Amino acid sequence: MVIETRSPEETFTLGETLGISAKKGTVYTLTGDLGVGKTVFTQGLAKGLGITEPISSPTFTIVQVYEEGRLPFYHFDVYRIGDVEEMNEIGYEDYVYGEGVSLIEWANLIEEIIPERHVAIRIEKDLEQGFDYRKITIEDHSKIDMGEE
Ligand code: ADP
Ligand code: MG
Repeated sequence: MVIETRSPEETFTLGETLGISAKKGTVYTLTGDLGVGKTVFTQGLAKGLGITEPISSPTFTIVQVYEEGRLPFYHFDVYRIGDVEEMNEIGYEDYVYGEGVSLIEWANLIEEIIPERHVAIRIEKDLEQGFDYRKITIEDHSKIDMGEE
């Protein structure tokens, strides 16, 4: 699915829509260059989950946990990760295979430890379409048959 937005508000609203329907255990991966709108999207998703406190980029903590919404929300920003071993140290698997909703900004940097079941969101600019234009591609891999059921 491809969605085009032309303002931060539209990207926020798209995130909000996903947050409203997000199910427990869902892992969202976000990829796209610096300043493309990953955090704007995340803020919308958090609002959709019923979180009212401000969402910032968890730059120095890797993961920020929000408990006040409909489901626990685990917001990762792995931009500064050195190697994937750092993720194990913070209990990564307990989050992404847990009951809450996880969202991972810069998921491409930890590709090898992304759960097979996830929803991949890619945000891209296209300057020919204007400065505020974003192309947002959503691929739902959350319902794939892993062969064990
Ligand atoms: P990232 O987390 O990907 O580094 P941010 O979400 O922090 O990026 O910043 C995105 C910036 O782009 C914000 O300043 C926002 O106002 C701006 N922007 C302009 N147009 C859009 C759009 N269509 N969607 C999202 N953000 C946009
Ligand atoms: Mg960000």
